[in-house]
Parts: sequence; structure tokens; C-alpha cells
Amino acid sequence: RKGTAVITGASSGLGLATAKALADTGKWHVIMACRNFLKAEKAAKSVGMSKEDYTVMHLDLASLESVKQFVDSFRRTERSLDVLVCNAAVYQPTAKEPSFTAEGFELSVGTNHLGHFLLSRLLLDDLKQSDYPSKRMIIVGSITGNTNTLAGNVPPKANLGDLRGLASGLNGQNSSMIDGGEYDGAKAYKDSKVCNMLTMQELHRRYHEETGVTFASLYPGCIATTGLFREHVPLFRLLFPPFQKYITKGYVSEEEAGKRLAQVVSDPSLGKSGVYWSWNNNSSSFENQLSKEASDAEKAKKLWERETNKNQE
Ligand code: NDP
Repeated sequence: RKGTAVITGASSGLGLATAKALADTGKWHVIMACRNFLKAEKAAKSVGMSKEDYTVMHLDLASLESVKQFVDSFRRTERSLDVLVCNAAVYQPTAKEPSFTAEGFELSVGTNHLGHFLLSRLLLDDLKQSDYPSKRMIIVGSITGNTNTLAGNVPPKANLGDLRGLASGLNGQNSSMIDGGEYDGAKAYKDSKVCNMLTMQELHRRYHEETGVTFASLYPGCIATTGLFREHVPLFRLLFPPFQKYITKGYVSEEEAGKRLAQVVSDPSLGKSGVYWSWNNNSSSFENQLSKEASDAEKAKKLWERETNKNQE
């Protein structure tokens, strides 16, 4: 049978390119889990995906209620869940003030981390029940969360500190940053990506042996043309793609990045669990190292316990 893959934020950029790459193999049905139904439908059509290869379903990760409703709606389709790809993200590098999710958490960490955290915990049960031979859960990471790389050292650097801002609600009353500091939109995004990578490793440690599910993260390369940079200043948006193409040489097209993520979804050679995949300049994949903080097992455990306790409150 065809595999079923849920991809969050498949209405543009990397998510859309991955949905297209999987659909093109003829071996996957893609659930495009998106906040804007019409945009997702149009996006699927614009890249030439055929109707039988995808289903658009509503998911707004900036609302935990919407995450629960998505899980209910998915279960009603009676499809088995074979792969979950947590891909959606928001990035607000120029915001002066924080904005907030439906439940009042700072928007980038709320969407990129907290929404996906709940989604992955709920859907783990569905993955467990699937009889698909290679079940996977993938959380898209980023180099910007890795302070062991050049790009990860561009200030402001990711830093979760002792999670005191998260513990105090991330709601702007005490702080809207995980480390309890002043709001900084670019840092909030990087922090959220560190949380994504810590979550993937904690899931691996807790559930890989018991469930056989492969947990993985990746840095697909710098896809300088996606909507992620939509809130950046115009000059940045003009210069960023050529800068990445010719100076850092880290640039990848959306199509190539989509093929890379599609490999992590289905390629037998990328089936190892607990890995953060990257690609070198000739497009071959390798197991990359994470920064000290993004591989800190104590912090991953603390982050996990903080969120799971709160969900039970
Ligand atoms: P895009 O902005 O093109 O795509 C992001 C997607 O997330 C969009 O489909 C967007 O929906 C969706 N999204 C945003 N907020 C929500 C929400 N509340 N609920 C549901 N969906 C939402 O960016 P990219 O394709 O570049 O980013 C995809 C992933 O790749 C992210 O995880 C990002 O961190 C990662 N990444 C990107 C890199 C790059 O260079 N671009 C490099 C490394 C990692 P909508 O279409 O409605 O806006």
C-alpha cells in the first residue's frame, strides 16, 4: 500500500517541495496539514500534484485546540499514520514586540515548538499502531540553532538558559523568551529550533526502542527563497539569496531541499534514529553534529518534563 505522510506547513517552501517530491514517487499519500486551506489547495495545484496524491487538512499550530482538532480529524479519515513531518515555522526577525498564540505563548516558540510538541506526542500513538515497515517522525531543525557552526554564531545566538521564561508562561508578563530575557524575534526563532532538535533526541531516547519509530531531524541547507524570510527588511530579502549562493555556498533550491527531506521520510539509507542529517556540497547526506546546547541531554529531559507536566495540569 501507499504510505501516508502528514506534513505540517505544506502550503509553501520546504513543506510544499517535500509533498511534491513524495507525491511524484507514486508511493505516498500526503496529508498537507495547513492553516490556510485555500492557499494549500492552490499550492498543491501550482506544483502539479494530482488529487489522489494529497489531502489538505486544517491545522493551526498557534492554537493547541486546533492541534487537538487536527488529530481528531486525522483519526476520522481512518488512514494509518506512517510518517509525521513537523515542518511549519514562523520567523519574525524584525518584530519589535512579541505576538502570541491562542493560548498566550510567544508566537515563534508557541508555533514552532509547543504546537509541534503536542502534535508529536498525540500522533506518536497513531505511528505506533501503523504496520508500515519504516515508520518515522521528523522534526525540521536548522543550522541557526547550532552555535558550533559559523551561521549559528551570528548574533543573537540561541540560548535557552535555565528555561525560566518558559516556566513562567512565555506570555510576556514576566518574559516572552525561554531564557527569561528581553524579546528578540530572531533569537526566539533560533531558540524554537533548538527546542525542536532537543525534542527529537528526547523522543528517540524515550520511544525508539519501544516503538521502532525512527526519530530524525535535519538541516536541509539554506533555502533562501522561501516565505520564511517574508517579514525581513526588503534589502535583506534582495541580497540574502545571492549571498548564500555565491559567498557561503550554503544555498539550496526549494526543489533540492524538498528532495532531501523526502529522503529522510523514505530512503532506506536514512533510517537511523536520533540523527540530525545534513548534506555536503555534492548533495550527499551525512550525520551531523549538534551544538553543545542542542545536544544537551539534561536540558532535553528538563524541557520534556516541563511541557508534559504542564499538559497534565
Ligand atoms: P515557509 O515560510 O515557506 O513555510 C513555512 C510554512 O509553515 C508555511 O506553509 C506556513 O503556512 C506554515 N505555518 C506558519 N505558521 C503556521 C501555523 N500557525 N500553523 C500551521 N502552519 C503554519 O518557510 P520554509 O519552507 O523555509 O520553512 C520550513 C521549515 O524549514 C521550517 O521549520 C524552517 O525552520 C526550516 N528551515 C528553513 C530554512 C531556510 O533557509 N528557509 C533553513 C533551515 C530550516 P502559510 O503558507 O499559511 O504561511
